[in-house]
Amino acid sequence: MRTQVGIVGAGPAGLVLAHLLHRRGIDSVVLERQSREHIERRIRAGVLEHGTVDLLTEVGLADRLHRERMVHRGLEVLYDGVGHRIPLTDLTGRELTIYGQHELVKDMVAARLETGRPLLFEAPATGGAELAGPRPVVHFEYEGRSRTLECDLIAGCDGFHGVCRPAIPTTELTVYEHDYPYAWLGILAQAPPSSDELIYAQHERGFALHSMRTPKITRLYLQVAPDEDLAGWPDERVWAELRTRLDRHDPAWHLSEGPVLDKAVTALRSVVTAPMQYGRLFLAGDAAHIVPATGAKGLNLAVADVAVLAAAIEDWYGTGNTALLDAYSRTCLARVWQVQHFSWWMTSTLHRSPDGDPFSRQLQRAALHQLTGSRAAARAFAENYVGLPLVVPGSAGDPLTPAPIGGTSHDPP
Ligand SMILES: Cc1cc2nc3c(=O)[nH]c(=O)nc-3n(C[C@H](O)[C@H](O)[C@H](O)COP(=O)(O)OP(=O)(O)OC[C@H]3O[C@@H](n4cnc5c(N)ncnc54)[C@H](O)[C@@H]3O)c2cc1C
Repeated sequence: MRTQVGIVGAGPAGLVLAHLLHRRGIDSVVLERQSREHIERRIRAGVLEHGTVDLLTEVGLADRLHRERMVHRGLEVLYDGVGHRIPLTDLTGRELTIYGQHELVKDMVAARLETGRPLLFEAPATGGAELAGPRPVVHFEYEGRSRTLECDLIAGCDGFHGVCRPAIPTTELTVYEHDYPYAWLGILAQAPPSSDELIYAQHERGFALHSMRTPKITRLYLQVAPDEDLAGWPDERVWAELRTRLDRHDPAWHLSEGPVLDKAVTALRSVVTAPMQYGRLFLAGDAAHIVPATGAKGLNLAVADVAVLAAAIEDWYGTGNTALLDAYSRTCLARVWQVQHFSWWMTSTLHRSPDGDPFSRQLQRAALHQLTGSRAAARAFAENYVGLPLVVPGSAGDPLTPAPIGGTSHDPP
């Protein structure tokens, strides 16, 4: 097989990239290791930034999203049994969308199949040096046979455990890593949300998050140990712990409960791979970076990467000039590090340190007092939470040059 852009992985990064390229008249082949059913059922993220939704809307991927999404204009930070609302939209002029990642994946798979361009399921790329070579080739398995895909460029959108990043010589990459001494036990429950907005709770027993996917489905998380055994968490224990950590000095508060549809432990990590390009291989999304889920940024970062990549690829095919492709990594990493900082800050401020260091605990309290007591601090938080503006090369605004204080594009209208 031959194509212009070989895309490894049909997660949000690969599927959005395929669609952006299709709209620019650029051919691609998407290879996905798993089955269609598997990726359409995989429960993951669900908070979409304003810029992500704008992009999806502009390219025709958001019709069902607009019909079925929940719109959020604030969130709550709960500590010492008192909830403090951060009015995100008042502070930034922007809103958030709640829509499950697997629903978005369904929409994008349908859109891709409608274009008639190839999306092959159960077609794992097998890796190897040719992925990162001057004449890129993807070797993959499909319908019981080994095959090859020759391409002009390869987009490694194959997540953190994919084959693209390992194809780059380790001497060419710097990997920045930070492991957190805790993980999240997440459940998806058939229960209406107990609040209209997300609740981030800091509690002496550990962090908890109340989130949702639809008006009937709640997503809840508990801070647990990194090596936590799920077997020790029958549903009743999960609910009891959630009731404790989300409790507040309000007799009217009540946590809705219901059947648990999904339960899993997810590690919290920060990883950045730099650069995100080697020769004609470009890494995007989780293949290049991981953020702890606290800031709800992983999916949004994946979309931001491929918006930059699609514009650069179009420019290269149109002009033959590699300037934007050469700037891909630098452009993306500017955003990635800002998002890493924000996600690290949220994670470190809201979780209970296992060593129980009293000094750190007082610093966390000071940070929460400032966040909930200062409009300026709340606004800085809100700008990051609703999402930094999407900047693509060739458009106005260089992400490496901060906008002057007092006149940023975050200003509410
Ligand atoms: C278990 C888990 C839970 C998460 N939960 C949350 C959450 O609750 N909230 C939140 O905000 N974020 C969450 N995230 C983060 C968010 O879902 C990711 O950041 C997002 O999926 C990134 O999209 P992506 O396209 O880069 O990667 P992925 O979605 O991982 O997609 C990569 C795709 O590549 C495919 N692939 C891998 N190897 C190969 C190969 N060799 N050949 C072909 N295909 C291959 C995979 O099957 C997959 O479909 C979670 C992530 C994980 C892994």
